[in-house]
Amino acid sequence: MMTKTATPVRIDGSMGEGGGQVIRTSLALSMLTGQPLQLRKARAGRTKAGLLRQHLTAVRAAAEISGGRASGATLRSKALSFTPGRVRPGTYRFAIGTAGSTALVLQTVLPPLMLADGPSTVTIEGGTHASGAPVFEFLDRAFLPTLERMGPKVSARLESHGFFPAGGGRITVEIEPAERLNPVELHDRGPLLDRQLTAVLAHVPDDVGGRLLSRYLERSGWTDVEPRRPSAQSARSPGAALVAELRYRHVTEVFSTIGGSGMRSEAVADELLKQVRSYLKSPAPVGEYLADQLIVPLALAGGGGFTTRGLSRHATTQLELVRLFLDTRFSQEKLDHGVRVEVDPSSVSWGSAED
Ligand code: ATP
Repeated sequence: MMTKTATPVRIDGSMGEGGGQVIRTSLALSMLTGQPLQLRKARAGRTKAGLLRQHLTAVRAAAEISGGRASGATLRSKALSFTPGRVRPGTYRFAIGTAGSTALVLQTVLPPLMLADGPSTVTIEGGTHASGAPVFEFLDRAFLPTLERMGPKVSARLESHGFFPAGGGRITVEIEPAERLNPVELHDRGPLLDRQLTAVLAHVPDDVGGRLLSRYLERSGWTDVEPRRPSAQSARSPGAALVAELRYRHVTEVFSTIGGSGMRSEAVADELLKQVRSYLKSPAPVGEYLADQLIVPLALAGGGGFTTRGLSRHATTQLELVRLFLDTRFSQEKLDHGVRVEVDPSSVSWGSAED
């Protein structure tokens, strides 16, 4: 893969969103391009700045899969240097040790492993249902199926649920890489095919599930939907997550809310409904979080694009990071119902579909 420069890429960790995303995306792009990175002010935008367990696990995972070297990889460190080696597919297990998000550690290792020269099996232990991160269902039904349309085969298994604070959840991801990613265009939802509502419950009072589900069903008018209540009894910490899935012909979107102590079940259900209504307000197919996740794969594909209601700060940070590592640029066109984001084909000098 052609790289932009051979010298270390310097990253100001306070850029844009200023959180863990900057670290994970930088590590992934460093492994993909072979460029070392030097990052300072890690997570400067957060109250507890520096590397937390989840970010540290991502750094260690990057070093392990690429035979790379990291310095500054310690808890609460704000400066990190990383020199990648050659990405080696294989069987890996990474344990976060807290409820830090398994899906977010995957964000670091999946892009290089889905373009590696052999299959991988990755097991990650930590949180599977935490706020501020993708829940397992988002990974499984929204993000990975979209990625599969770009070429690689990636399937995830939820082996154990993990809630805050103990974590202890486990996912295993099977990755059959592709030689290159194909561009995908996501500008139209197509007709609605199915809706699902799921309450994931672990060690909570008996009435919680019923209250979450009935409040959502009553207020949403999803009268035809038979809700699901998978068992999450193996979870170490109590927890409740409410997850809504909307499956359209061309895209599946997944929204979630996580109950917390002191939060009424009704408020959790109302919060989920707010997210779903916000998505339904516009015909844009790609929701906020899926947009955040698609920027790196599209940049690697060197083509394709999506329409979303508006780009989040995570997404604009991803666009900036891509610019630091690759020549690939994205164009943005404002539409009545959102923004159309596309890889600018004139900026693609490597790995493009036309090569
Ligand atoms: P911190 O914010 O503490 O630095 P972090 O590393 O957990 O920590 P961010 O940098 O904020 O996180 O990144 C959060 C990621 O999780 C982003 O990729 C965002 O798109 C994704 N995300 C957040 N909430 C959801 C959700 N409800 N569904 C899917 N993805 C989500």
